[in-house]
Order: sequence, then structure tokens, then C-alpha cells
Amino acid sequence: MLARMTSINLADRAVDLGEWAKSTPDAAAEFATAVRTWLDENLAGDFADLKGRGGPGSEHEFFAERLEWDRHLARHGWTCIGWPTEYGGRGATLEQRIIFHREYARANAPARVNHLGEELLGPTLIAFGTEGQKKRFLPGIVDVTELWSQGYSEPGAGSDLAGVSTSARLDDDAGKWIINGQKIWTSLAHVAQWVFVIARTEKGSSRHAGLSFLLVPLDQPGITVRPIQQLTGTSEFNEVFFDDAETDADLIVGEPGEGWKVAMGLLQFERGVSTLGQQVGFARELDNLTEVARTTGAVDDPELASRLARADIGLTVMRAHAHRTLDGDVTSQAGAASVSKLLWANWHRDLGELAMDVVGAPSLIGPAATAEGKANNITDPENVELDEWQRLYLFTRADTIYGGSNEVQRNIIAERVLGLPREAR
Ligand SMILES: Cc1cc2nc3c(=O)[nH]c(=O)nc-3n(C[C@H](O)[C@H](O)[C@H](O)COP(=O)(O)OP(=O)(O)OC[C@H]3O[C@@H](n4cnc5c(N)ncnc54)[C@H](O)[C@@H]3O)c2cc1C
Repeated sequence: MLARMTSINLADRAVDLGEWAKSTPDAAAEFATAVRTWLDENLAGDFADLKGRGGPGSEHEFFAERLEWDRHLARHGWTCIGWPTEYGGRGATLEQRIIFHREYARANAPARVNHLGEELLGPTLIAFGTEGQKKRFLPGIVDVTELWSQGYSEPGAGSDLAGVSTSARLDDDAGKWIINGQKIWTSLAHVAQWVFVIARTEKGSSRHAGLSFLLVPLDQPGITVRPIQQLTGTSEFNEVFFDDAETDADLIVGEPGEGWKVAMGLLQFERGVSTLGQQVGFARELDNLTEVARTTGAVDDPELASRLARADIGLTVMRAHAHRTLDGDVTSQAGAASVSKLLWANWHRDLGELAMDVVGAPSLIGPAATAEGKANNITDPENVELDEWQRLYLFTRADTIYGGSNEVQRNIIAERVLGLPREAR
């Protein structure tokens, strides 16, 4: 197995993913063929230009076109495939979801635009929402007409999320929650229609008590969205200010004061199953980088070759861990999600660094020409166009931070899995 994996070949990895199959091999192969055929036939014509677009560090690329592609997928039943059929999904098994992601990556299909709705909020509503909320919001996620953003972090509450101070009070007469405060690092709030917000709804409460999980429309006078520029020069995340912002009284998920439970349920989705597609994407990135190393001769450097091989082994470890976790074969789901987060975040950060070393000196200055073929003005740092590896490198600096930092994951493992004393607060 190991010898085969160190050959760094996407086809090998695809076979290994297939080995996860729990149903008959014929059924799995049939499903894979259906997905592959559909992607081959549909990622063509105008959509062909989207191949490989919108990945880590390039989320700004072709957004409108990728949105149209997602809607095209939806019209043909390829969004939310793991959701139960009663909510617009396909009731796909874990194995089918893995196959779908594998074929999606193999086709070099573009990054999806409604990850937060499909992978985080949707499953959370299915688990904790009322029937009314499911009816109201799940169809808009399935057909990609409503995009979501995540309003958790605040300037004073990141790792220590229980420090949330954004407040909401219920105005019974108006039948509205009135929200005041600020969120930060809110990915995609500038393109989304909705944000799910953790807010303090019990005056005088502290920490995990007295919080609620609210669904809030972004397009309203009480909300200001201000983009934050990233290292890559683009802006995929934002500050979001709430000044007497409103949302309907019934748009609370779970009971008032029980927001922490719902928020943590969502984080389990964020750190768990939702990373399936991402891991298959990692395999493609490693394949592409290996190809660059072959082309430039970097692969002849024993140190770089060894790091490429180790990256491939890292993928195997991640896959094995995901398999155990998603099958439920672990003693602590909370700990397992944290191990998974640590594994992929460190792996991807290291891949970014490896990419810079494989590319070598040119990685310091950027490509000679922009994607549009114009000469790149490398003396003007504000406007320099980065290549895909530089974007990947800069993006992966964030992997060990978002979704819960490395240190926070290690604390969770120490306290909840190993039973070590809780850290002093
Ligand atoms: C690309 C990106 C996208 C993001 N998107 C979103 C989004 O859409 N919605 C959203 O709500 N948030 C989002 N975030 C925010 C992200 O969740 C936070 O950045 C993260 O939780 C860390 O919080 P912080 O930035 O406040 O850092 P802090 O919590 O201030 O941490 C600073 C440093 O201290 C360390 N640290 C903190 N506490 C401990 C401890 N107890 N023990 C040891 N070390 C500790 C941390 O690990 C970190 O290294 C995003 C972040 C990034 C980078």
C-alpha cells in the first residue's frame, strides 16, 4: 500500500478511495460513471473556462460564472447530494459522496460557491431547525439562490467564542430580534444574502449561557459589510456591523439561550464531513505540484522529492482518519474532528511552503505576465499579479487559523480525549 501511495499518482489515489466502498463494487462503479459522464458532458462549452477556477487563494475568480455553474449542478440534482431526499438532497451514502468529490476533482471542476450553506448551515437546520425553517431555507441552498455567511467571530471573540458580545433583544410588538454589535472575518458576506449569527440574547449572561443562533438577512439598513483585504490582495472576508439590524422573531434556531449547542453542532459539520471535497482537492494540488517538480527538474532534489513523498503519505493518513471518523469508529467525535482539522490544516500549510520551494526563485517575484497576458508590474506590490502557487502559499497561512486554530484543537484533544486538566482561564 505504502509503496503504491508514494508513487504520487492521482489514479492510484482514486482507486484507494474506491476501496472505502461499503456497498457492491458494481453499484459504486455505476455511480462513479454517472457522475463522470455528467461532468464530462456539462463542464464544456462556456463552462469549460471554469476548470480549475476559484481554488484556495483564487476564490475571487469567475464568481458570477461559478455561481451559474452551481445553479446548473442544482438543476441536475448535483447539489446537497448527501442530504435526505425529503429536503431536496439525494440521500447519497458516504461512499457516494466520496465518489462524487473524487470525480469532481478529477474533472478539475471549479470551486463551489455555497459551501457554507450546503455543508454547514443546511445540515445544522436539518438537525436543529423547525419544520418551518427547513421549508423556508433548505430549498434556497439546494438551488443556490440564497448564499450564506458565518457570523461567529468578533474582534473580542475568536478562539474564545464564548466571549461573544453582539447582542439581540426580542421586540415582541414588532415580532423582530433587534441586533447590535460587530462580527469580523465573515467570509463571503459581501456576496451572500444571509448570515447566521451567534448573539447574546440574555442580558447579563456570560460565556456559553444566554446565547442564541439567529438567521439574519444581510440586505437591510441596519447592516454594513466592509471588506478586509487579504495577503493575496483580494477580499473574501469582511467586517459586518449590526446597528439595530432586524430579523423575524421565528428565525432563531433552537431555543433562546441554547445557541451554544447549535453553534457547536455546526462546528462539528465544519471540521468533519464538510472537508471530504477539500481532501480530494488536496490530492489534485499535490499532483499538479508534482508535475511542476518533474517539469522543472526539482524532483531530482532528494530533499524536495522526499517532501513530495511525505505529502503523499500525509494524504493517506488523512484519508484513513476521515474514514474512521465518518464511520463512527472513534471514541470521541469532538476529538476526531479536531484531529482531522489539525491533520489537514498542517498538511495544507506545508504544501504551500513546499510549493514555494519547488517553484524556487521565481516564487519570489511572480509570473512575468498576468492571466490576461499583460506584462506583470512586479515593482508595484499593490498591483502585482500572483501565480497560482503564490496564491496557494499565501492562502494556506490561514488554514491553521480558521475553523478553530491549531492551539484550540490541541486544547480540545487534551481536555476531552486525554482527560487532562482544563487550562486555566
Ligand atoms: C481565511 C479565514 C476565514 C475566516 N472566516 C470566518 C467566517 O466566515 N466566519 C467567522 O465567524 N470567522 C471566520 N474566521 C475567523 C476565525 O474563526 C478566527 O480567526 C479564529 O477562530 C481565531 O480567532 P482570532 O482570529 O480572534 O484569534 P485569537 O483567538 O485572538 O488567537 C490568537 C492566537 O492565540 C492562540 N490562542 C488563543 N487562545 C488560546 C488558548 N486558549 N491556548 C493556546 N493558544 C491560544 C490562537 O491559536 C492564535 O494563534 C476566518 C478566519 C480566516 C483566517
